[in-house]
Amino acid sequence: MSSDPAAAVVAAATSPAPPAARGPAGPSPTSGPVGRPETVAPMRHLLSMADLDAAGIAHVLRVTDSLGEVVRRSIPRVPALRGRTVVSLFAEESTRTRLSFETAARRMSADVLTFSAATSSAKKGESLRDTVETIAAMGVDAFVVRHGAAGAPTQVARWVDAHVVNAGDGWHEHPTQALLDCYTIRQFRAEAEGRTVGTEVGTECFEGLRVAVVGDVRHSRVARSLVIALRTLGARATVVCPGTLVPPSLEGWGVDVCHDLDAVLPEVDVVYLLRLQLERGTGSYLPSAREYSAGFGLTARRAARLAPGAMVMHPGPMNRGVEIADEVADMARSLVLRQVANGVAVRMAVLYLLLAGPDAPDAEELGRSLGVVGA
Ligand code: ASP
Ligand code: ASP
Repeated sequence: MSSDPAAAVVAAATSPAPPAARGPAGPSPTSGPVGRPETVAPMRHLLSMADLDAAGIAHVLRVTDSLGEVVRRSIPRVPALRGRTVVSLFAEESTRTRLSFETAARRMSADVLTFSAATSSAKKGESLRDTVETIAAMGVDAFVVRHGAAGAPTQVARWVDAHVVNAGDGWHEHPTQALLDCYTIRQFRAEAEGRTVGTEVGTECFEGLRVAVVGDVRHSRVARSLVIALRTLGARATVVCPGTLVPPSLEGWGVDVCHDLDAVLPEVDVVYLLRLQLERGTGSYLPSAREYSAGFGLTARRAARLAPGAMVMHPGPMNRGVEIADEVADMARSLVLRQVANGVAVRMAVLYLLLAGPDAPDAEELGRSLGVVGA
């Protein structure tokens, strides 16, 4: 499978429905008749971050607050999706994202089917469409799709009636990563202000938040989804990378570009480091990993220049010593492990919002029914 970054492929990959008008989430919207705030459109699929407007993102984060509480319990399981079947269809190597989604589905008592390309009929030449239609015929409610080709999850959504979540497609998007990153930023900010994350914390902390997205932007689906989410929420993103790693499509992203990490560091609230995607040919865009690290790696010396309260983030897996120094990865301001932990709760929320149906309780009701404090 190719990871063709061609604009046409990416254009085909964007969700068929135009993104809803952007705007601030507004103060707690009132609940509509179908169990979600009136301003939040129902989610059919999650293919791109552009599928959600600010109110939609805020809603996912609120539902995550309720479900995140469940994750911390001694028996972290609720019956919210009992009787539903979720398929994880991973046609590209992945362990972390797949485990995160499968854990999320199981914590809500859904049945999970795992399809991995390495051990499946895809190896025998079956087309993606045949594979997907065969699985759909078994009666499944949601497909979680990772694929090396940009746009594959959107294609799957056209072929089946089930809900589809994009778990990373080529160089295109990784929307649940962006949602878990937003959740982590909001959680850290709320804690820094002495507030416990609960249903009363909104997304105001993103207004004017300055975020540097550093590194291999060219090959990064994480960067694209994150930038869309940050802009939707009113944050200011700056892409920091060598000239060779600027993606050809950057004009449409609405971000500043800078090639000098040292100039940007003292100014930002978040440094978001991307992994050098050596398996996607990044090596040919750089003289060497060592040289990259000298210009763009977050060393301890550089981290010391960050503002107090600034956050360091990375989607994992980290190349320690390349984009992030060992000691920086383990600093208190490094939120890497929180990102992983929040990934499960955010994916629970996404699956819940897709699958629980129109009569499902909204975030507050859900929180109360689960006994979440402050709901
Ligand atoms: N890209 C890595 C993997 O596939 C990590 C991740 O997806 O979270 O395992
Ligand atoms: N885990 C992320 C992804 O799958 C980031 C990475 O692999 O660098 O895109």
